[in-house]
Amino acid sequence: MKLPRVECPSCTRSIAAGMVAGRLSKGRIWRHDAPDARRDADGHLLSCAGSLKIVDLPYGQMEIEIGEPETETAPADAMALF
Ligand SMILES: [Zn+2]
Repeated sequence: MKLPRVECPSCTRSIAAGMVAGRLSKGRIWRHDAPDARRDADGHLLSCAGSLKIVDLPYGQMEIEIGEPETETAPADAMALF
């Protein structure tokens, strides 16, 4: 599945955004590490402050997910039968 990408409000990198149920114009920024790769006292990488934030998806991104509407209702060669 191709996810729309949005600019993280914290680190300004382009991060994939997951869907938010029931809110088509919103996305949740994928968890990502802090740009300077800081670690906590246990040595674990810290997440960027923008991780998991709910953001507005850029206009037009959702149409890519939905795809082309099906307008053709009959095969092109159907008329050849008559
Ligand atoms: Zn970030």
